[in-house]
Amino acid sequence: MDHHSRSLLNTFSAQPLDRAAHQRKDKRWLAEQEEHPNARFLVLNNHNIVTDKNRPLILSQAQRQQIDIASTPGLLGLSVENAQAYPVYKINSQQPDIELAPLLKAGEFADTQQFDAVPLRKLAPHLDNTMASMCAYASVLNHWHETTRFCTRCGTGLQQKEGGLIQQCNSEDCRHIEFPRINSAVIMRITHSDKILLARQDTWPERRFSVLAGFVEVGETLESAVQREVYEEVKIRVENIQYQSSQPWPFPNSLMLGYSAEAINTDFELEQDDIAEALWLTADELRKKILGGCIIPPSNLSISYQLINDWFAVQTGQMLSEYQPSSAWQD
Ligand SMILES: [Zn+2]
Repeated sequence: MDHHSRSLLNTFSAQPLDRAAHQRKDKRWLAEQEEHPNARFLVLNNHNIVTDKNRPLILSQAQRQQIDIASTPGLLGLSVENAQAYPVYKINSQQPDIELAPLLKAGEFADTQQFDAVPLRKLAPHLDNTMASMCAYASVLNHWHETTRFCTRCGTGLQQKEGGLIQQCNSEDCRHIEFPRINSAVIMRITHSDKILLARQDTWPERRFSVLAGFVEVGETLESAVQREVYEEVKIRVENIQYQSSQPWPFPNSLMLGYSAEAINTDFELEQDDIAEALWLTADELRKKILGGCIIPPSNLSISYQLINDWFAVQTGQMLSEYQPSSAWQD
């Protein structure tokens, strides 16, 4: 399986929209899209996705025009359906109860219905990967728009450009362009012979184990970050570092870069105040510990699940999900 196919197995990795990179530079085209009769508007509430009957609330153009939301819509891209392209936006509602109330009054939705604002982490397991991915993309963009309001050079306010994928300083003397921040993190499956290294962070509840991970620092390669993080966390040296797959991780704005590596030494020393426990396990030992309730593996929302599962499948011919407890953890 190639890396692209591997990445597509990760949650949030589908790309259902054409981002229209060239068209979105054209102001007239952008203005036309915002008035497009078939435009769709995915509604967010800061970090949360606004839902209607446990599904993300997506408004039509006619519905959007009934409500008054101050924030500028961000153009996610174009969706193509029956050979017709229509634009998909995200909009942010600070107060869904108040701002979306006209939709209830207009009879578009049942009077008794409540719109909920649900954290994506809680909602995503109930969505197909196409919808989960679109919500993740919208969530990262929304987080950036809501938290980056001023120019980092001169402090003047920013204005969205190109449908919101960039923001530009309003000062005539500055015009600095801001790009969305993406925090790169490496996450790595460390093995030695037929064993895998799983660890529990200090902040995690008892029995929750996963692979090691950490943020990439300024001036280092991804492979150096893998080596450094593993050594910092467990004092193990690694070699044969291989890229596996990637995953946008919208909590709030990371890109996870998944690697495998082989340990040179197996004796470990845990980093204080970060790693509480670590274990070398064969696939059979892991299976027994999961069945015995001693280890709760990561949920399949995270690339960590795929990294462990790929190894587990090679070792046993079985999927880790066959041993997944019903209440898998979500971090
Ligand atoms: Zn500026």
